[in-house]
Amino acid sequence: MLAECKVDIESARALILKTARKLHRGKDVTMDVSLCKYLSTEMCFRVAHRVVQIFGGRGYTKYRGIERFFRDVRAARIYEGTSQIHLLNIGKRLLAE
Ligand SMILES: Cc1cc2nc3c(=O)[nH]c(=O)nc-3n(C[C@H](O)[C@H](O)[C@H](O)COP(=O)(O)OP(=O)(O)OC[C@H]3O[C@@H](n4cnc5c(N)ncnc54)[C@H](O)[C@@H]3O)c2cc1C
Repeated sequence: MLAECKVDIESARALILKTARKLHRGKDVTMDVSLCKYLSTEMCFRVAHRVVQIFGGRGYTKYRGIERFFRDVRAARIYEGTSQIHLLNIGKRLLAE
């Protein structure tokens, strides 16, 4: 599960860095930003979900703030554009292209 978390985190990091470089070159990153936000927030949720599982019953309690982390990352799929709205943005861009 830790290895899966690492793969998830590094995938999101790579996409964010690629988008930042594209933005730095003055390119349009409209779709890339939605890709980053969607991938990262879904990734964080998966990671938090695994961390709760790794710690078992303690992961569900206030032990080391794990349940707080789990609640916080859940909200990220809602604010600053819900996951569904970012998918809509990506779909619209793909169809336009
Ligand atoms: C912790 C937190 C902090 C926030 N901070 C801020 C802030 O600082 N400033 C601010 O302005 N707002 C903030 N918000 C509000 C947030 O931006 C909205 O909750 C968010 O935009 C979703 O709007 P809504 O809640 O009205 O859901 P709705 O728009 O009613 O959507 C409900 C559900 O339907 C889905 N949905 C909606 N339309 C479609 C569609 N066309 N196709 C498919 N699915 C769809 C959505 O993805 C969602 O799952 C915050 C929210 C949270 C939870």
